[in-house]
Amino acid sequence: MPMADGPRLVAAMAGEPGYDAATQVFNLREPPRPVAAGTAHTVDDVQAAIRFARAERLAVRVHSTGHGAGAARAMGAAVLIRTQLDGGVRVDPQRRLVRVPAGTRWAEVADAAAAYGLAAPHGTSGDVGVVGYSLRGGISVYGRKVGLALNSVRAVELVTADNELRRVDPAEDPGLFWAVRGGGGGFGVVTAVEIALFPARRVYTGATYWPSTRTAEVLDRWRGWTADAPPEATTSLQIFNLPDLPMVPEALRATTVIGVAGTILGSELDPRLARQQAEHLLGPLRTIEGPVLDTWQLCSPDEVARAQLSPDEPAPIMGDHLLLSELSDPAAAAFLDSTGPGSGSPLVSAELRHLGGALAVPPETGGAFRHLDAAYAYLGTAVPFGPDGAATIERHCAVVRSALAPFDTGRTTPTLVESLDQPQAHLDSDVIDAVDRVRLRVDPDGLFRDDIVPGSSRLR
Ligand SMILES: Cc1cc2nc3c(=O)[nH]c(=O)nc-3n(C[C@H](O)[C@H](O)[C@H](O)COP(=O)(O)OP(=O)(O)OC[C@H]3O[C@@H](n4cnc5c(N)ncnc54)[C@H](O)[C@@H]3O)c2cc1C
Repeated sequence: MPMADGPRLVAAMAGEPGYDAATQVFNLREPPRPVAAGTAHTVDDVQAAIRFARAERLAVRVHSTGHGAGAARAMGAAVLIRTQLDGGVRVDPQRRLVRVPAGTRWAEVADAAAAYGLAAPHGTSGDVGVVGYSLRGGISVYGRKVGLALNSVRAVELVTADNELRRVDPAEDPGLFWAVRGGGGGFGVVTAVEIALFPARRVYTGATYWPSTRTAEVLDRWRGWTADAPPEATTSLQIFNLPDLPMVPEALRATTVIGVAGTILGSELDPRLARQQAEHLLGPLRTIEGPVLDTWQLCSPDEVARAQLSPDEPAPIMGDHLLLSELSDPAAAAFLDSTGPGSGSPLVSAELRHLGGALAVPPETGGAFRHLDAAYAYLGTAVPFGPDGAATIERHCAVVRSALAPFDTGRTTPTLVESLDQPQAHLDSDVIDAVDRVRLRVDPDGLFRDDIVPGSSRLR
């Protein structure tokens, strides 16, 4: 029976109006099927859904866009709240801050910030939700310059298990503010976040792709180049096996290509100088002959996410992820042998993201998860086709994992985890204990416990 609270419907059972909209996700691999679900547009909606969960003895689960749905625990006896809070994005240009209602996607924030010559710490897709990305870490296209996105979070508004709305910042509740930033969730329903912006009028972004015959050369040149790259440059190396579909650029369809993609923050003062700086920096990479596509361009920060080659249609995404300590000769060979041409890889994308820079520096005022003690992140993604598709991908993910094992730090970063089955180790054990103490204080009877990121708690 649909549950009404005042004039607004806040939770529906499967088959009832509102259930499908509230359970909609980007990653279709394991679509959520909770007992009840509703879309919250106001804090009142959130509070009504929590009252409903309490009355029906159901757990509370939360999501926004469902980009992280592949890594979420199964939902059964739960009310799923899809947060789509009203109010719109509000930029305070003087303080370089933006208040973002939960459910907002990064593209909207980047657009609002760019109007003031500011940029936001978003990732490769403007479609990803600000809340899940930011509170779980967030490796930005500007990551080496600005650090993990969660270090840009200045305040969090959330409804806790006592059904009270709180604005949590370093003064109001330092312990909860620390834990909510990367502690693994399970603290409440976030209704808005405040995020620090940074000045950027022109950004150089794009990618160059070469045919698979250039794979070894591109990988070698890129890893040598990353050894000295400044923090203004955040790049990744991608081996693509993209399908023959109209949304894929023609030069990249149905073939293996290798590319270097990224973003370079240039000089603030002179756009021409920004282009020169960026082109000078990228020069050694772009001298490799025979590119099939080159999309590097100088643009406004609101165009950066749109310029990335990132999927924008929901799909059943699978994948794996490791944080690597090095990209030495044997590590590069292991990556190539297991994902490159001739490896039989079914991965649509095998990517190495260059870390370091500000991503490696733990800020004093940081949260429970505050930096990445690794040199590169490996990220393999795939979409299963046919009856054996998923099993083939799983087998190949295991092959890559074993090839890269000698260089695996054993740590992971939550936003890059694609599937619940992947080993996850984001936090040190003393941090997990401290985060759990905060959880027990704000959610003593475990209303939100099923929402906790695996490996981030001893309570779940
Ligand atoms: C195409 C694509 C590109 C990506 N690019 C990047 C990238 O460049 N860098 C990067 O770091 N990551 C990237 N990601 C991963 C992405 O950051 C994670 O999937 C992230 O969890 C998405 O957050 P969301 O809120 O959109 O997703 P959701 O699936 O809606 O949320 C994920 C989890 O966050 C929590 N959550 C969400 N909303 C709330 C709320 N209102 N209150 C409390 N908890 C909440 C819940 O626990 C939920 O299960 C990408 C993913 C995709 C699919």
